[in-house]
Amino acid sequence: MQQTAEHVLVYYLYHSGFAVVTRNYILIFDYYRDCPSGCSTTADQILAAARGRHVVVFVSHAHHDHYTPAIWDWRDKCAEISYVVSLDVPVPDGVADVTALSANHHCALGSLDITTYASTDQGVAFWVEADGYRIFHAGDLNWWHWEGEPDEDNRAMAEQYRQEIDALPKEVDIAFVPVDSRLEQAYALGLTYFMSRVDARLIFPMHFANDYSIFEWLKRDLTQEAESRIAEITPSPLPFYLDGSRTPSSIERS
Ligand SMILES: [Zn+2]
Repeated sequence: MQQTAEHVLVYYLYHSGFAVVTRNYILIFDYYRDCPSGCSTTADQILAAARGRHVVVFVSHAHHDHYTPAIWDWRDKCAEISYVVSLDVPVPDGVADVTALSANHHCALGSLDITTYASTDQGVAFWVEADGYRIFHAGDLNWWHWEGEPDEDNRAMAEQYRQEIDALPKEVDIAFVPVDSRLEQAYALGLTYFMSRVDARLIFPMHFANDYSIFEWLKRDLTQEAESRIAEITPSPLPFYLDGSRTPSSIERS
């Protein structure tokens, strides 16, 4: 990785899938496929460039858009790889170095510090501290307000989501938070509540599949200050720096 003041790069894989590259780690979250039109860096490219970094694969839950059994084959491609998965993720026999966690657990893995939070859907959200960076990946922890659902259900959802976000530390470097256009007017409820509670340096909206129009919605609906913290994901393989800019450098360079 290029030596810069900030030793962290973020690669968008697809949907809720991201790779965070720090000085000593490659953290891969919720990978299930590469960007369909080849618009992202692929997981294989990232693994090929691991270069002595420890790869840690996180799976927030077993839904098809957050998990693929292909991740277990990565053991053949990397010298050092560990898995941190929600308890509902099926682990094949014979796989070593798996930490399976339910919500509200804390553990250390090498120099990583990992805490799980409950999802409002299935599985867990991850809070990870790696090489001095605080990283939050929400998985499917979101304020899922569906128009047409009974008010009572939407109220319970609101309460559950707020309670979970209120339990997070108040500052984070990098956050991955669902923003789903299928929720229509409520698409950013979860994100805006998160931003009101947690001071994030850079936020990656996720869970939008191919619907990049959510970035236009966010420009329209967020304050300028809030919007300046949002990483605008476009179909491109370039990684993100912590200031939200994208760089032509790649992790192959050192
Ligand atoms: Zn999902």
